[in-house]
Amino acid sequence: MANHNIIILGGGISGLSAAYALKDQKYLLLEAKERFGGRIVSIKDGPYQIEAGPNSMMLKSKRIWNMIQELGIEEKIQWPDPKSKIRYISKGEGMYPIGIQTLLNPLAGMAGLLRILSGGFSERGSDENLSVYDFFVRRFGQKVTENLVVPFVSGIYAGDAKKLLLAQAFPNLHLWDRQHKSLWSGILGTKKQPRIPKKGIVSFNGGMETLPKAIVARLNPEFLRSGVTVTEISCIDGGYRVKTSDGIYDCKKLILTLPPTQLASVLSGSEFLNLSRALQNIYSPWLAVHHFAFPKNSTRDPRRGFGFLSTQNQGDRHILGCLWPTSSFSDKAPHDQELFTVFTGGSLYPIRQNEDEDFQKAQILKELNQVLGLKAPPLWHRRIVWPEAIPQYDKNHCQFLKTYREENWESRGLFMAGSFFGGISVPDCMESGLRVAECVINAHLSS
Ligand SMILES: Cc1cc2nc3c(=O)[nH]c(=O)nc-3n(C[C@H](O)[C@H](O)[C@H](O)COP(=O)(O)OP(=O)(O)OC[C@H]3O[C@@H](n4cnc5c(N)ncnc54)[C@H](O)[C@@H]3O)c2cc1C
Repeated sequence: MANHNIIILGGGISGLSAAYALKDQKYLLLEAKERFGGRIVSIKDGPYQIEAGPNSMMLKSKRIWNMIQELGIEEKIQWPDPKSKIRYISKGEGMYPIGIQTLLNPLAGMAGLLRILSGGFSERGSDENLSVYDFFVRRFGQKVTENLVVPFVSGIYAGDAKKLLLAQAFPNLHLWDRQHKSLWSGILGTKKQPRIPKKGIVSFNGGMETLPKAIVARLNPEFLRSGVTVTEISCIDGGYRVKTSDGIYDCKKLILTLPPTQLASVLSGSEFLNLSRALQNIYSPWLAVHHFAFPKNSTRDPRRGFGFLSTQNQGDRHILGCLWPTSSFSDKAPHDQELFTVFTGGSLYPIRQNEDEDFQKAQILKELNQVLGLKAPPLWHRRIVWPEAIPQYDKNHCQFLKTYREENWESRGLFMAGSFFGGISVPDCMESGLRVAECVINAHLSS
């Protein structure tokens, strides 16, 4: 049995960021897989460079920018080709650009257009349990919500706008809804974030996995253990006991970054009953990522950009969203080919999880053909399935946060970070890891 001051469970980007911020402290990080990085997985498959998980990340926070600089990977940032910035919504057989052009296309309609221009003018909201869908319908009407918001929500969260809570999923909007009749007042009154040299959606040379690899390279290898599966966590006098495939570890402080259902299954003992039940109830739907390589110019519609999101009101679309990684970043495929990355599944379509790969592929190609007009079949295809992809910030998630806070776990030396804690994006997970490490250091100093 080994005694440690701090143990971090999980070597995804959240756990690694926590370890990075604890660098002057002694800690032990345990990760089940042989590799670190969790959902950030960059794959080189023949001539193709693809991502199993996140394709890119939004770089806008000073803290994350500083971390990237400290890691020495600023030079490896890939900024997308400016021409690829445009995003589209696909509805029926049409594909409509998002942006100022949205005002002129049929997605918003005249009534929607006027409501957008008014900043969604309406009575202020007060309901903590308001869904994202109901908020947008009240502020902008059904048409805007179905045509613009539902695709956006299924694109970011693989989620259902009718189930996600505004307060959890989009806290800024929730705040503005409570404070302002027109959301313009909220937007204009928002405090500017500290400036960074350049903002935007980025990837890295070598793919997104360059980021976790760079963090690991900066950590003390003696503090890291991979290939070690945690099987049970229990409370002991003055701390916690962690049973693993590699033995038993005791510690005073524990940072938990495992995905919610895995975490629920290892928290044993009556002390954890409510917490473990609340974690078990957090829903993370499945998601499949289909990568296709096509010869260049193989669609009748030549338009490209960052990608398109699909409207879902008929429930007849397999494609939640499609990215064109080769439009944004040039090194992902041979120059005479282009990649399409299509997401399917999510909480709108739990039933489709059982579909086999060929069926799904055929459905997606049929829809790509409807939207873009395919002139040639794909040269290559690969599917990656995530059985529990992204935690949903719905009523159950809200209940989990309440339980965690009411039971005051942090005062007992148990801390959590990760995609079920303050945002699902890669930068949000990094921020949550950095923040939790600060809490642990502060708790250590004051004990
Ligand atoms: C398909 C997909 C696309 C995405 N696209 C984007 C995007 O474009 N941009 C963006 O910003 N975000 C995106 N995200 C979200 C983002 O990638 C994740 O929210 C984030 O990477 C989660 O990091 P994490 O460290 O919290 O969790 P994870 O990466 O899941 O890490 C948890 C770690 O815990 C380990 N673990 C689990 N059980 C045990 C155990 N019993 N013992 C020890 N270790 C264990 C796992 O092996 C894993 O390494 C996407 C997610 C998915 C799935």
